[in-house]
Amino acid sequence: MSDCIFCRIAAGEIPADTVYEDEQVMAFRDIQPKAPVHLLMIPKQHIASLMELNREHDALMAHMLALLPSLARAEGLEQGFRTIINTGKEGGQEVFHLHIHLLGGSPLPGF
Ligand code: 5GP
Ligand code: ZN
Repeated sequence: MSDCIFCRIAAGEIPADTVYEDEQVMAFRDIQPKAPVHLLMIPKQHIASLMELNREHDALMAHMLALLPSLARAEGLEQGFRTIINTGKEGGQEVFHLHIHLLGGSPLPGF
């Protein structure tokens, strides 16, 4: 989707501070970090939100989740971290391309 900012990052059309990439996914630093470490993990294929998931995405989503511990370790987050997926307007989603926030590096406030 050419008008989707994360599709454009995945295609290399917009630069990003990428920390991990493979055929299916990318992880890069959030442009407005809300914690000392703030990564975004995206699937390279356009999925608008968690609401669009179906069973065909099982392997992809498992792959994304399974990558998080190694990403967290690489960022020094052995003491813990938070993952967030905002979904839809009322969920606070601003970019409508599925992404997992990975936050840490200092104690995070409660909800
Ligand atoms: P959402 O509110 O949709 O869950 O989160 C979107 C996130 O994407 C925000 O934390 C925002 O700072 C980040 N973001 C928006 N545009 C860009 C961009 O062009 N590059 C990067 N690296 N992050 C972005
Ligand atoms: Zn997209």
